[in-house]
Formats: sequence, C-alpha cells, structure tokens
Amino acid sequence: MIDKLTDLITQTTKPFVIAGPCSAESEQQVISVAKEIALKTNTRVLRAGIWKPRTRPDSFEGVGAIGLPWLVKAGKETGLLTTTEVANAKHVEQALKAGVDILWIGARTTVNPFAVQEIADVLEGAAVPVMVKNPINPDLMLWIGALERLQKAGITDLTAIHRGFSIYNHPKYRNLPNWEIPIALREQRPDIKLICDPSHISGRRDGLLSVAQKALDLNFDGLMIETHPNPEYAWSDAQQQVTPNGLKELLTSLVLRQEELTADALSIMEVMRDKIGGLDDEIFELLTARMKLSEEVGNYKRENDITILQQEHWRKVIAQRLEKSDDYDLTNKFIRDIMDAIHQESIRKQTKIMNPGI
Ligand code: PEP
Ligand code: MN
Repeated sequence: MIDKLTDLITQTTKPFVIAGPCSAESEQQVISVAKEIALKTNTRVLRAGIWKPRTRPDSFEGVGAIGLPWLVKAGKETGLLTTTEVANAKHVEQALKAGVDILWIGARTTVNPFAVQEIADVLEGAAVPVMVKNPINPDLMLWIGALERLQKAGITDLTAIHRGFSIYNHPKYRNLPNWEIPIALREQRPDIKLICDPSHISGRRDGLLSVAQKALDLNFDGLMIETHPNPEYAWSDAQQQVTPNGLKELLTSLVLRQEELTADALSIMEVMRDKIGGLDDEIFELLTARMKLSEEVGNYKRENDITILQQEHWRKVIAQRLEKSDDYDLTNKFIRDIMDAIHQESIRKQTKIMNPGI
C-alpha cells in the first residue's frame, strides 16, 4: 500500500505514467512486460485488467482472481505500484486481499450509480487510492457523482482518468475525447489529479501520440498507456497496445511544455495578446453593427408581415461564406458555427421586434 497516489503524482516529473497490458494473460506475460517497462521507461504504476468488461459475451473476459498474484508479484519484482479494474464488491475484496496497490473503476461501471455505490460501501474506511474513469456517455455530473460517492465513503485519495466517450463508427477515434469535459472536471475539482488514457480514446497505436501530446498541452498530470509484450496477439484491445519499446518511443517523442510563464515570455505574449484583444474589440463592434442592420430588417419584416426565417436566403448566406473558406484559411465547421451563432442572435432580436408582447 502506498501513502498517497495524489502526492506521488504531484512529486513525479510530468507525465506520471501508468502502463501495462489491457488484460493479464499469464504470469509470464505480466512479469516480462513489467520488467521491460520498468527497465526502459519511467513508468510508476503497472496496470493489468484481471476482470474485463467486454461488450459481447464469448469474448475473453479476463483470467479472474487467479491473475491477482501475478500482478502483485510483478510489482514486487520491479518496484512498480500495481493497479487493476474493479467492478463490484467481490473484485474489491479480492484485489485488496491480494495486495494490489491502487484500484480503478472502469467507464462501464462509473456510468452506473448502483455499482459505484456498491464499491464505495465495501471500500468504507479503506486507505486505498482509487482512480475513476469517465463514464462512457459524456456526462460530467455522473463522473463527479462517482467521485463524490467514494469521497463520502471516506476515500480521499482519488484520481480521475479521461478515456473518452462512446461514439458510433468514428473515422478517427474509438471514443471521442470531448476535451471540454475533463477541462470542466478540473475546473470544478482542481484537487483531483487528471490522467489521460490515449489507448482507449484513439483505439489505434498510430493515434496515441497526438492524443497524449494534446493531453499534456492541456496540463493533464499523467498518461495511462496499454502496453503488451506482443500487441498483435493480445487477447483484448490488440490494435491499440504498444510494446515496451513502443511506449519508450512514445514517451520520448512527447514535447513537454511548461505551464508557468517566465517574465520574458509573459512580456512578449502580452504584446501579442493586446493585439488580439484589439481585434476582438473590432470583431464585436462589427457584430454590433451587423445586429443593428438585422433589427432594421426585422422592422421591415414586421411592417410587411414577412416571416423571420427565410430558409433559402440563409442557405445562400452560409454558402457564400463557405465558398471563401480557403481564402479565410478557416475550417467549414468553424465558419458554420460562427454563422449559426450570428443567425441565432439575429433571430432572437427580430423575434423581439416582431412580437414585443410575448
Ligand atoms: C481498460 O482500461 O482496459 C478498460 C476496460 O477501460 P475502460 O473502462 O476505459 O473501457
Ligand atoms: Mn483495454
């Protein structure tokens, strides 16, 4: 058992790394990968799934409690701390009895308050660190709620893991990152450390680096990366796991940027930020002028009994902007979002003019 995971994360040079296979498959597999990870990288925690929450039956559902001593032994032989996923009271009891250092609650469990409460109840008073993955659906409150249930049971050493949110058939991600959600979590709970799990967000080895880099650029505290001695033959999540060498390469490719600004950087950035502030002023002055014109149009529509929404006209307005997207060097999505926001505000103003009493 460790004193406090939260303190260890604070004291470790960023990023704090958790690595290991998606699933424990054999004693030899867990121990060999742990040794290689410990030798080649500065990983602090060894992960291995013992009980696997699989989407469909007849997939490999984890080796079960028999794998717990493998994980604990691998931890002892390498000096790595150990962690595994728990999804019910029995898992918690067995993992703690075997001497696993840290527990984590998986995305399919966080989503279910009954299951989280069951785990919180059995943990009552235990001094074990718990990491809570985000729920599979993009619901910040459910994530916070799970952390609170554990806290109410006296578990104070809590860490959050961002692993993305379910999506159907996305070309790039296995689980959508929705970065605004972990950012909002940190805003509401700055006391809780935040780890990113690029493996489950990307779902592909070649997508790990960009997700991991983005997490570090957003000041995440650490990374959880699935690492397997022979990824192609892994019994679960074969496409997203890397070898220990792959992990080493990934970690050395990451650019570590500092959060604190030096006085020099601050003064240079202040000049640029002032210019941006000036442009923001101009943008809003123009928007104000544009809305005044919308109001004039609104008055004309009211006097002549014309509906607010002129669908065909609006389609043309958007098309004109999108045609220029290359000149602007802006994405179509950005142009659409801006135009939609302008349109909504314009409709709001015209509605007020047309129907002053309602
Ligand atoms: C895992 O870490 O292997 C796992 C099952 O994760 P998640 O709960 O994020 O799906
Ligand atoms: Mn996995």
